[in-house]
Amino acid sequence: MQTASRVVVVVFDGLRPDMVTPDRMPNLASFAGESLWFREARSVFPSMTRVATSSISTGAPPVVHGIVGNSFYYPDVTRDFVLDTSLAEDVALAESRLSGPLIAAETLGDRLAAHEKSFAVVHSGSAGSTYAINPRAAANGHWTFSVMGHDATRTPHAIDEVVERFGPLPPRTLPRFEETDYVTRVFAEHVLGEMDPDVALIWFNEPDTSFHYKFLASAETDAIMSAVDAAFGRILTAIRGRPDADEIAVIVASDHGQISSSGVADIATLLTEAGHKAARASSRAINGADITITGGNMGEIRMVDGDMDRRDAIARWLMQRDEIGMVFTPSDDPVHGAVDGTFSTALVGLDHARQPELVYVLRSGTEADAHGLPGLGLITGGVPVGGGMHGGLNRHELNTVLILGGAANSGPAGPTGAPSGIIDIAPTVLDLLGIAAPASMRGTNLTEIEARRQLASVSTVEAGIGAFRQQLITARRGNHLFLIHGGRLST
Ligand SMILES: [Zn+2]
Repeated sequence: MQTASRVVVVVFDGLRPDMVTPDRMPNLASFAGESLWFREARSVFPSMTRVATSSISTGAPPVVHGIVGNSFYYPDVTRDFVLDTSLAEDVALAESRLSGPLIAAETLGDRLAAHEKSFAVVHSGSAGSTYAINPRAAANGHWTFSVMGHDATRTPHAIDEVVERFGPLPPRTLPRFEETDYVTRVFAEHVLGEMDPDVALIWFNEPDTSFHYKFLASAETDAIMSAVDAAFGRILTAIRGRPDADEIAVIVASDHGQISSSGVADIATLLTEAGHKAARASSRAINGADITITGGNMGEIRMVDGDMDRRDAIARWLMQRDEIGMVFTPSDDPVHGAVDGTFSTALVGLDHARQPELVYVLRSGTEADAHGLPGLGLITGGVPVGGGMHGGLNRHELNTVLILGGAANSGPAGPTGAPSGIIDIAPTVLDLLGIAAPASMRGTNLTEIEARRQLASVSTVEAGIGAFRQQLITARRGNHLFLIHGGRLST
């Protein structure tokens, strides 16, 4: 069994593996060439940051951890607005009103703490994302630094410590050059150089932010990708300069990919016009609406008064619209949803007690965008048309970066198509340190040769009604279905 004295995890938010090329990211491409690259690694559904982060920390899909969307309506917490898991105040509200934890499963941080292992995180994402990677960091005796400041971490002393050494927190610009440089210094010099924890994790908010607002593969976005790649080079140099470098495992990952947007489909307005008064999550109010709705390129729709006839009617209405790619409803069936033509939420690992009554995904495809990258789809808004989005089941949203190097790979280097994903990160980190993963973790230790060699058992399922036909391709490993690609079939 592969072991390591320390584990370093580097996460690039939103990074697509097909963009890890020698011209765009020379340091990472070179590292990938000498490491084990899980080229078909997968995110979870919805392929959104807080959902995926919770899957990284719990080693499990949303059915286990209960973070069923970046935003989701959760009446047990509040009936006044849709919970936004990026906000520190919404996370605090949920914690104060729930009898159990918001992230409802044992995490990597919890397990490390139980084995008296230290865990340091440097994060440049939202307060909620920073929370989700180690929600009980303070109780665990761990250390989490956020570039967003005191309110974005449960261990605010980390901010004081860092500011004293490195000076004031950087300004927020787009692309996020200053933040990238600052967090890299904190991670390389302070965390790796001084603190020397058992597990160290850095989460770069780029290239995700620039993909959204400056477009995939644009000159500005390529410049920030070059900057995060240089940052990775500095981190590798810090690791390789240590006398124990050979004993340190390095795992590089992303939480999801992105596809470019081709146009807007304002589902909330269309539903309101169709007689279902919709409250958008972003409005932070319900205001007598019939339904709540979240957006992006997919979202949940909840009946405020629990009217399932309305749910059924909306599901049928969605499946008659050209803009809609996929529709899901809860069901006891593993494939088909409660409403004819829909898929079951269980098919995509979303069937937690907090699941919505209805989920839609806007239409997308694998055709090339304006910069020649495959993956193009509709959005409800939120970013300029042409900007990147994620959340759905397009292969270019689901396919993540997952590379095992250093002490995490003693075998041959190169790419493997073995079924794998973000749920495997926590079990792999734990196993490298000789700690058994809890049963709730559905991921597996990817350093084990059986995991690498496993052939995917790929299957395709379809559902639909009338002219609406949707398809999902999955790869099974044990009791987990990795989501390969989904979308509407052209008719
Ligand atoms: Zn993300």
